[in-house]
Formats: sequence, structure tokens, C-alpha cells
Amino acid sequence: MTSSAAKKPAAKAYSLPPIGGGEEAFRPQPVPVPLPMIVRAKGIHQWDDEGKEYIDLSSGPIVSNIGHGNERVADAMAKQARTMDFAYSRVARHQPDLDISHRIASLAGPGFERVFLSSGGSEANEIAVKFLRTYDLALNGGKRTKIITLMPSYHGGTVFTLGMTGDGDLVSWLDGFQTGCEHVPSPITYRLPGNHSPETYAAHCADELEARIRKLGPDKVLAFFMEPVGGLGTGCNVPHASYFKRVREICTKYGVALVFDEVLCGTGRTGKFLAAHNWPEALPDVVVMAKGLASGYSPLGATLFPSRMVDPLARKTGFSFSHTYSGNPVSCAAAIAVLDEYERQDIVANTAKMGAYLREGLEGLKTKHKSLGDVRGLGLCMAVEVVTDRTTKAIWPVEISPTDHFRIAGLEHGLIIYTRRTAKGRNGDWFIVAPPMNITRAECDEALKRIDATFKTFEAEMKRLGHLA
Ligand code: PLP
Repeated sequence: MTSSAAKKPAAKAYSLPPIGGGEEAFRPQPVPVPLPMIVRAKGIHQWDDEGKEYIDLSSGPIVSNIGHGNERVADAMAKQARTMDFAYSRVARHQPDLDISHRIASLAGPGFERVFLSSGGSEANEIAVKFLRTYDLALNGGKRTKIITLMPSYHGGTVFTLGMTGDGDLVSWLDGFQTGCEHVPSPITYRLPGNHSPETYAAHCADELEARIRKLGPDKVLAFFMEPVGGLGTGCNVPHASYFKRVREICTKYGVALVFDEVLCGTGRTGKFLAAHNWPEALPDVVVMAKGLASGYSPLGATLFPSRMVDPLARKTGFSFSHTYSGNPVSCAAAIAVLDEYERQDIVANTAKMGAYLREGLEGLKTKHKSLGDVRGLGLCMAVEVVTDRTTKAIWPVEISPTDHFRIAGLEHGLIIYTRRTAKGRNGDWFIVAPPMNITRAECDEALKRIDATFKTFEAEMKRLGHLA
């Protein structure tokens, strides 16, 4: 692979135009991390307007599962747009909708026979909530109005999904504005309180869930939402296996719907089509997907339900909420072509293999960089926690944003890295390692080389600023 990564300056200075300026115009000014102007993308690579090449280390925000510039997907979308660009789901039926629903349900397996399409992760989570509420009202008397989620966690950016999200910094924003959800501790595995091991802490967290259900009233809780592999909220935390079994038992015992938010970790990212497939004895009732499903080529979300819930509800009142773009034909065509690529390139199997390889390489970097605290995740859904000292696991001072410094160093060394400081770093700081899932071994080696160089630059900068001994 030829690389122009180290040769050119990262992201030139940019001033916002007097009108327009896109989403960036809404961000704090000046934008703390220079953003490269991306003009071209192919495979795991992206190029800016000065010809500098980057590895898309996090697939955007874990979206570009099959990599960039796939001609087959682009052709399928163009063909669909030319043949039949749009048909509205309330007044017409179309084949791409039926095909992708059937395909997703087949890959998800028993228990997920029905698929409701939407435009993204937040919408897909809201559909799960609205469906469960409608179901309870129509078939069980509608007393269950409470939703429990984890703290920390992330479930989306609409007003309701912000309330679901476990982020202490949102409390004042939501106060008096949205009723919010109940939060119980997330079964994190790093920097554990007390003398807990991941297993004992998982048991403690499951106990907390049960206690909260009992406190709220066992017949008042509608659903428990969790990310089976965390995202930005926990830095790809994978709960101890015992947690899944306990949580399944608790939800079944109290008639609470168990929902896995797989918006980020689903669609093969963990080395199985559903992240839930990693814990087959603890399958959830509902799975929420988005991001990688259409791999960034078009917006698409999907909420997967069992026919044992959907069909009786359909016979009674039906579930009648939807959105203008539910089952958009071009998005459906994109997702069908993406899943064809999954098969053609055996992408899920490659994810398991390359995930293990990349992880080993990241672990190896610990010997060189004391700020590399933890590597965690599953398959190609990983995060690296950055600390001031690996032995103490100490977090960074609240006034600095180490992940911004890391991103800037990454740009210099040809890496586009997704990272966002949540809860002002109180739960730690990490960056996401989730390249496109058809990455090769040689590309993993190149990515590791650049991560190594990024750590070197980052640590030098942190020392210069007096934040690293
Ligand atoms: N749920 C999880 C676990 C996510 O990671 C995200 C986005 O990052 C969402 C929901 C929201 O998805 P979207 O941004 O597509 O609305």
C-alpha cells in the first residue's frame, strides 16, 4: 500500500462561510479538532482535498462495515433510484422492503421474525419503545410505563432516546423537560469499584436491576434496554457472560421486555450477525439495529420483534406509528447489496479473524505506551482506553480532553479516529478501533503502525503539557 499519510499537513485551517457551513457551524467555535475535508473514499481509506490519505479507523461512528466506494452497492442504489425511487409504506407495497425484511429476519433467526424499518438508530429505538407501549396497552392493560437503561450508556439523540441514554451530564438538560428513564449501573469491566472482579460486579449490577424493578413495581416496568457491547458510553464494554443469563432470567421473571440496542455492535461487528448470538441462552425479546446495516451508503434502521408479539397485536389494534422514510426503497436496495457483499466476501468470518489479530497487536502496544490502559470489545468493535498511568488506571484532569489531542495526533499520522468525551471523562477516555470489516491483515499491520506513531506523538504532547510523567 502506498501511503501519503506522513507527508502532508493534516487538515488545513478553515473558516466558516457567512451562510450555510453545515453542522460544523453549530459546534463550539473555533472547532477544537481540525476536520479534514474528505473528498474521496475507497476500502478502508479516505482522502482529503490535499490528497492526504487516512485510514478510517472507526468506520465513521462504526458505520462503514463493508468499506467505502463499493461499486456493487452504488450500482444497486442507482438502479433502484432509476427503476422506482420511492413508494410510501402506508399506501403502497414494494419488493425491496419485503426482501430486506426477509433477509434480516433469516439472518437473525428464530425469535426475530418481524422487522420494522426506519431511518437510523434513534428512530429504531423509539419504535421499540412505542411498539412495547402499544402492545402493553392493547393486550395487557397498559400499566407498564417505566423503562430502565444502564448508566453509562448511549441510546440516541432524539429527545426520548436522550432520556434513555445514561449520561450524568444530561440530567440538568432533561430536568423538567422530559421524564427520562430509570438508570441502573452498567456492568463495566475496567476500573471497578471496591474489590470487585468483572464477574462479581456483573452480579452486583444484575441485583441492582432486580431491586429497581421491585422498587418501581414489578408490574410497572415495560422494558430494560441495554447495549450488549457498549459504544461511546462505556468504550465498547463487554459485560461478563454471567450478566446476560441473569438479566434474561430477571426480565422473564417480572414480564419485562429485554431489548438489545445493537445499533452500533450489530450487523456482524462482533463476529456474529447479531451481537445477541454471542449469548444464545439469553436472547432478548427485541433487537434494535442501524448503522452498519446499509454500511453508510444510505440511512437505515431496523427493529426486530418476535411474531409471537407482532401477530397478536396486529390482529387486535395493530401498530400504526411509522415515518415517511420507513422502508425507503433506495435504502432497502443498499442494505440488500451490502448483505450480498457480506456473503460474497465472507465478511462476518473475516471480522472474527481480523478482530483477534488487531486486538493482539493493540495489546502488544502496551509494552511501548504507558498511557494505553485497556483494550476491550468483541470482533471488530473495540475501544482503547487512554489513561495517565496504566498501573493506577488514573483518568485525566477534567479540564483537558485527551481524546481531542489523540484525534489530532491521529490525523497527523493518517488516522481518522472516532472519539467523543462523555461525562467529562469521569468514566474514562477512549477511542474506537472498528475499521471496515473486510480489512486485510496487511491493512491491520499498517493501522497498528499508525496507532503506535499516534501514541508516541500523543504522549510527547501530554508530557509537554505536564499531564503525563
Ligand atoms: N444506539 C446506539 C447504541 C448508538 O451507538 C447510537 C449512535 O451512535 C444510537 C443508538 C443512535 O443512532 P443514530 O445516531 O443513528 O440515531
